[in-house]
Amino acid sequence: MIEQRIKAAIRDIPDFPKPGIIFKDITPILKDHELCMAITDAFIGQLKGIRIDAVAGIESRGFLFGLTLANKLGVPFVPVRKAGKLPYAVKQKVYDLEYGTATIELHTDAFEPGSRVLIHDDLLATGGTVTAASELIQEMGGIVAGYTFVVGLSFLNGKEKIAPVSDNIIVLAE
Ligand code: 5GP
Repeated sequence: MIEQRIKAAIRDIPDFPKPGIIFKDITPILKDHELCMAITDAFIGQLKGIRIDAVAGIESRGFLFGLTLANKLGVPFVPVRKAGKLPYAVKQKVYDLEYGTATIELHTDAFEPGSRVLIHDDLLATGGTVTAASELIQEMGGIVAGYTFVVGLSFLNGKEKIAPVSDNIIVLAE
């Protein structure tokens, strides 16, 4: 049900941001407040029984439902940002892209060591971004409690990449 509603809302944009890429545009979801609430409720329902001390949202679309999710769970939200965006002291992680590298950062006081951190992003593709986030969280003494995504591109096998860290993987639409 929620899966069909998400799939009906998102639109495919050919050749964005580069020729040959079909981009899943999630912005129509954001115009439908009932669907937004249903997405949050679906995450909350599927997270029952999993202890979560904080939600880490990946820049930038991971902030959208990440904050709502944290608010509903009653735990802190911490932004995982690209290099140079966070104003306080940071810990960073450099990771490989198809061409070159990227860097993500977290504030050094984002969570206490031993915290169980849920990682949230809008979309799971290869799993490279959330793997970098999970490595950073673990290097800072956190435990990855699980992952939530609104959309997953199952043909890229991202779940297999991230499952060794936590098999609490919630993807609402694949
Ligand atoms: P991955 O690291 O899993 O290969 O790529 C996922 C990351 O890239 C996420 O942060 C996601 O926001 C972004 N991303 C990659 N492809 C798409 C897409 O088609 N649509 C959206 N909304 N985000 C994408």
